[in-house]
Order: sequence, then structure tokens, then C-alpha cells
Amino acid sequence: MALMVGISGIRGIIGETLTPRVVTEFAQAYGTFLNGGRVVLGRATRPSGEMFASAAAAGLLATGCEVTHLGVVMTPTIGRAITDGRYDGGVMITASHNPSRWNGLKFLSDRGLAPNPERARKIAAIYDQGQFRFEKEAFAPLAHDDEAGERHVEAVLAVLEVPVEPLKGLRVVLDSVNGAGCLDSPGLLTALGCDVIHLNGEPTGQFPHMPEPTAENLAQLCEAVRETGAGVGFAQDPDADRLAIVDERGDYIGEEYTLALAAQLALSRRPGPVAANLSTSRLVDAVAERFGVKVVRTQVGEANVAQGVVDNGCVIGGEGNGGVIDPRITMVRDSLSAMSLVLQLMASSGKRISELVAELPRYVMIKQKFECPRERIEVATTAVAEAFSDEKVNRSDGTRVDFEQGWVHVRASNTEPIVRIIAEAEDEATASTLVERVRAAANL
Ligand code: MG
Repeated sequence: MALMVGISGIRGIIGETLTPRVVTEFAQAYGTFLNGGRVVLGRATRPSGEMFASAAAAGLLATGCEVTHLGVVMTPTIGRAITDGRYDGGVMITASHNPSRWNGLKFLSDRGLAPNPERARKIAAIYDQGQFRFEKEAFAPLAHDDEAGERHVEAVLAVLEVPVEPLKGLRVVLDSVNGAGCLDSPGLLTALGCDVIHLNGEPTGQFPHMPEPTAENLAQLCEAVRETGAGVGFAQDPDADRLAIVDERGDYIGEEYTLALAAQLALSRRPGPVAANLSTSRLVDAVAERFGVKVVRTQVGEANVAQGVVDNGCVIGGEGNGGVIDPRITMVRDSLSAMSLVLQLMASSGKRISELVAELPRYVMIKQKFECPRERIEVATTAVAEAFSDEKVNRSDGTRVDFEQGWVHVRASNTEPIVRIIAEAEDEATASTLVERVRAAANL
């Protein structure tokens, strides 16, 4: 398995493709790209995290950067700290939801955004060339800041938009998967008045279940919500940028609903445009329609959604994987912002999660992926656009066709020679039929 170099950083297998040397050199490449400057560094809870954070600190210091180590923090806490402290950039040690033998590095720009593809390519090119800036004398000492997490929570509490008294005593079960969400998330929920039951809340990085917050991995959370009579269950991924929700009956509602529910609260107070990537559910369109606002569709990739939020002055942005961007807090997907918005929606509507979900349309999504050379994907997506030119076609990332009864998105993976096909409709049979029509036109 090769080192994966994507637009937001690198991921590799510890001791095989990802070693201290690789991390130091990538950090040197980033420090060279920044030409020195002030950088924040943080890590999620994987046991290899401090080793790699030290390696990254060495690389950054070698290039003359001033480094402030935040210790164990959530990825969105780094984003928040950058804008808060006017840093020039950030480095997060995380492999997000990958299994435990993985770790990686994520870079953030001076605006707290994931780097755009052009900047990411530049950083990777500097790494490949191995020509790094080298400071010889003026080394800054490594600084520490242990309060970034608390400030992140305060920032979320500072923008509450509805009275939260109805949340008093609401029982909430939170599964932090022993990841970076462990430390500061309960404080947010407690401050909102909730009675928190914290599952997997030790920041050990020993994942008690597969760490991606999908239905099959959250049986324990669903059970705990049922057993404790909780009003809602929340699940974070290991770096706490994604959030999945379990309703008061202990049913996993699907990550696509996280953005839809968060947007519902935000738009009810501040109507305005919403950004979502092209593979995100139509649920968000249903919510936007209620408030008469538009949905800006971006290319897939967190950086693209964040840029869409900036360019269009969006009130909120996100992805169908439970990633919500509240630009008032940070331009990074943030599970704290998402929890706060969803709880405020419960407080202001007086409704249970299952009732809020029942008011939204119900869609079925089909996802397919298979190996396919890049050139062939290009030909295929062009053929799809031509075949369905009478429908609404978006060609900014592969081809997405919006039909009356659903949509299909065909695109190349950002990291692997794989084609992805995602379709959504009101029922499985309709979604399958749409996929078949598109595959036939694409000759895939
Ligand atoms: Mg993540």
C-alpha cells in the first residue's frame, strides 16, 4: 500500500509507508512552502501521534518556523486556533477514520482552510524535489498552548442563536471513539445544559470499534441511547470533524441528515446560501427550499466546500459524511458546531430527532466504485454529459446529472485510479435504474 498523497495531506501505514523521516520531510516541505512563519501543530489520539508530532515539529523548526504545539486537539480546533491567533498555517497529525495502523498529516492554510489543489501540488512538488529551506541559527523554542480546545468550545457557545433552556437535563450519549473529541466535547454539551453519558471517552487512540461513524460501527451507541432513554446520540470520528446522529429510539439516522438538520437551524435564523459538494444528498436542497435560499454545489473535497463557502458568503457548508462547516467558528468541518446547531434545533422546535427527520424527504443512496484508468473515466463522464444533455448537467467534477426523480454523479477518485458512481432517489429501484442508464451511456 503506497503513501497516499491527497489534497489535504498524506496518509500512510505506520512504520511502512509512514515513518518519522517521511513526516519530517513533508513538514520541511510545508515550512519551505510557507517560507518560515508561525505554525500551530496538533495531533489526534493515535498512540503514534506524539512520535509523528515530534517529527513534524523538527521539520517545521528546521525551516525556521515558529511552532506552537496544541497537544491532543480536534482537527477543527486547529482551524479555529489559526484564525484566532493569526497563524500562518497549521499541521494536524491524523489519519481521520482510517484503521489504527494508519496515521497521517493534514495541512491548513493561514485562513484555516485545507489547501486548494494548486497549493497542495506545490507542497508535494517541494517534497518530491527534496530542496528544503534550512534555518541555521535563529531557532525559535517550541511553544505550547493547552487551551485551544476550551477556546473552541467558548467560540461555539458565543454564537448560540436560540434559548437553550429546553435542553436542560436532556440526556445525550456521546461516542468519541477514544479520539480527539474526548477532551472538549463533553464540556460543550454540559454548558448547553445536557446530561452527558460519554462512551469511549478516554483519549487513548485505542479504537473500541471501527472508527468511521457509519451505521455498522455504532451498535454500542444505538444500544446505549435505548438503554438510558437518551434524547439523542452523537458519534464523532477520531479527529472529530465528522458527526453522526442516533435518534431517541436508538436508530442511526444516516450522516446525510447531519448537514440537513444543522442547516435547518442556521437558515431559520440567518437565511442565505448553503455550500455542499456534488455527492451530497438532495436533503439539503429540501431544507434550502423551505427558506428560499440556494445551494452552491462544489467539487468533492473539504477544501472545495470551504472555498465555496468563502466565495459565496454561505451561512453554512458541508458534506454528506456528517461534515458541517460553520464559517463563524472555523472553515474546517466541525463536530462541535454540528452538535450545537442540532441541539439548538431541538430546543427551538421542541421536536425529537425522529420527528425532525420525518419532516424531511426520505432518499435512498447507491454508491459504487471500481477500478478504471483515468483516461477512460474522462471519456465516460463526457459521454454521460452528452447523452443526458436535456437534463440538468453539472460538469465541474466528473459529471452529475439531475433527473426529476433523482440524480447520479460519476467522477474519478482524487487519490486512486477508481471511478465512483453515486445515485440518489426516493427508492432503491429508481436509484438502480438511474445508475444503469448512466452506466450504459458511459459504457462502464
Ligand atoms: Mg475526520
